[in-house]
Amino acid sequence: MSIILLEHPRPRTPERYESVVNTPLSSCLMTGYIASTLKSNHHDVDIVDANLYGWSFNETIQELRKKSFKLIGVHLVYLWENTEDVFEMLLNLRRSVPGTHINLYGHFPTFAFRELLANYPYVDSVTIGEPEATFPELAEAVKNNKDTSALYTIDGLAFNSTNSKIEEGVLKPNVILNKPRKPVSNLDKLPFPSRCDFDLLKERGISTYILASRGCYGKCTFCYLDNFYGEESSWRGRSPENVFNEIFDIYENLGERYFYFADANFFGPGKNGKERACKLAGLIMDKGLNIKFGIECRVNDIDDKTIGILVRAGLKDVFLGVESGSQRSLNKFRKFTKVEDNKKAINILRRYDIEPNYGFIMFEPDSTLAEVRENFEFLKEAKMLNSPGITAHLLHHKQTIFKGTFDYEKRNSGAKPASKLGYESAYEFKDKAVEAFSEEINAFCLQALKDLSMNRDFEKEERDSCVYGENNSYSRQMNEKLIEHFERTLYSYE
Ligand code: SF4
Repeated sequence: MSIILLEHPRPRTPERYESVVNTPLSSCLMTGYIASTLKSNHHDVDIVDANLYGWSFNETIQELRKKSFKLIGVHLVYLWENTEDVFEMLLNLRRSVPGTHINLYGHFPTFAFRELLANYPYVDSVTIGEPEATFPELAEAVKNNKDTSALYTIDGLAFNSTNSKIEEGVLKPNVILNKPRKPVSNLDKLPFPSRCDFDLLKERGISTYILASRGCYGKCTFCYLDNFYGEESSWRGRSPENVFNEIFDIYENLGERYFYFADANFFGPGKNGKERACKLAGLIMDKGLNIKFGIECRVNDIDDKTIGILVRAGLKDVFLGVESGSQRSLNKFRKFTKVEDNKKAINILRRYDIEPNYGFIMFEPDSTLAEVRENFEFLKEAKMLNSPGITAHLLHHKQTIFKGTFDYEKRNSGAKPASKLGYESAYEFKDKAVEAFSEEINAFCLQALKDLSMNRDFEKEERDSCVYGENNSYSRQMNEKLIEHFERTLYSYE
């Protein structure tokens, strides 16, 4: 039986420059992992990466119609106002290939499964959380032409029961949620993810990702990453040897020399977490691999000794979860870090010539003007506002509140969902001055980002990069303008 795994188109709108917050990097290999697990269970599977191919929704439908398959898994990504387009595409698909089982997987459907199944009854099922064990069981059930009753036995699956109820003359969907699927306890047992279209990925400037761990030991109120893996989850790491073997395979067979770790948090907790990272670095150096790599991590995991070893093994890029320059905001986020930890981590990385990329939330629903001021002074003091693309992002980022986070539950418990899917919580700021200021800064920064993208030299820069040359005078002026505008406007509100 043929199975399709689809990465659907992800059209971007100028208003959604921050779309990165919606697609946790750790999900980028989800389709590859499902494919390799299916293959190891002797299923015939084809990955269709419509997003990578640059197809429209219509083109995707045309291409899918040429294929024969009984099960399609769709890695569903929330696209704000364009989300409906994905469902139109799926409805078209349902009409053209009526007997196909449509399954959704990923972060968005895991948290919004109830609303998705109820609103789009032509979707047959949703894989909740980690998919590697659930999806092959679904494939077996579909392959053997089992009826819906077989779906009740698959842990980690939600689906629409055929026993829908009629209430007040309207057919009401009956969404069933099976027992939760336990997260994979030994990640080394999973086959390495399937990698397709390697040359095209390189052509598009997309990194080669490695997922060396899952989950996070942090408990930030704005993050749903850990909840995705279920209540029993904690940070789980692959062994350094297993990670090294995957890197070595790609290094030897595809000639790749740059890797980016898609882990939400590259370091496991405490001393053991750092030792594991150093052991991986040791393997890379001992075997003489000439590579560079990037990681994402919390500030409290940055120490001189560990970073020194990782740099010798090829560490080049770090995305640092700084989040705020205000201690009160860090406490509200339950970040369990200090502003001083942020500064210290940045300084250590800079000593090794690494200028990190930053996770930073300038505005959150309870922000006060004093906290916004603390954020701004921190960004200036830590010299984080050097390049206009980065400056525009850091100055306007507003917290996004998605289902699955502590903040969502806090704001929405008992409340009716604000939209059909209720996946994102719309909010008003507690302080109306902060709201007005945030709106003004948001408009200014988005316009700056638009202007910058129109002035970019596309020939020389990576797609999707937000780094602009600091040395040309246009960039310098734009950077100064952004900082000055923020300063002046904040002062007027204060
Ligand atoms: S440190 Fe916080 S934001 Fe980062 S992955 Fe962990 S819980 Fe999420």
